[in-house]
Amino acid sequence: METQQTPGIIETEVSNTLTEKEKKKLERKAHKKDIKQNKRAARNYEDSAIEAGRKPCTLCGTSCDVLIRCQIDESETWHMTCTKCWNEVSGGVVDGASDKEFYKYGGIWKNHKADVTGKKPKRKEKQPTLNSPP
Ligand SMILES: [Zn+2]
Repeated sequence: METQQTPGIIETEVSNTLTEKEKKKLERKAHKKDIKQNKRAARNYEDSAIEAGRKPCTLCGTSCDVLIRCQIDESETWHMTCTKCWNEVSGGVVDGASDKEFYKYGGIWKNHKADVTGKKPKRKEKQPTLNSPP
């Protein structure tokens, strides 16, 4: 079965004498382009807002969208650690590995600005390359 598809609206911009109606149409088109560009600028602004909303890891200083609040030593100081440092101080266990006697889990902090757009934080962990592309 063959289905005939209408190829959409083909615009002809060959007429030398533009009517008022056509002129307005073109103006509107240009205006639309403007809006698109503004939107893109807004998105860039959003990105920098996300970056501004990040907090640095208290151990390594890396700015992150997600930090884990925890105590890691006898000073009972609350640290905000990135996932990488958290793995080291907790042994990769939420409540702390058995040999991490001073470790205490205190919750998770998330960059809400990043959540608004649903943008996932960039992963810095090395991903295992199991299947290499052909
Ligand atoms: Zn860190």
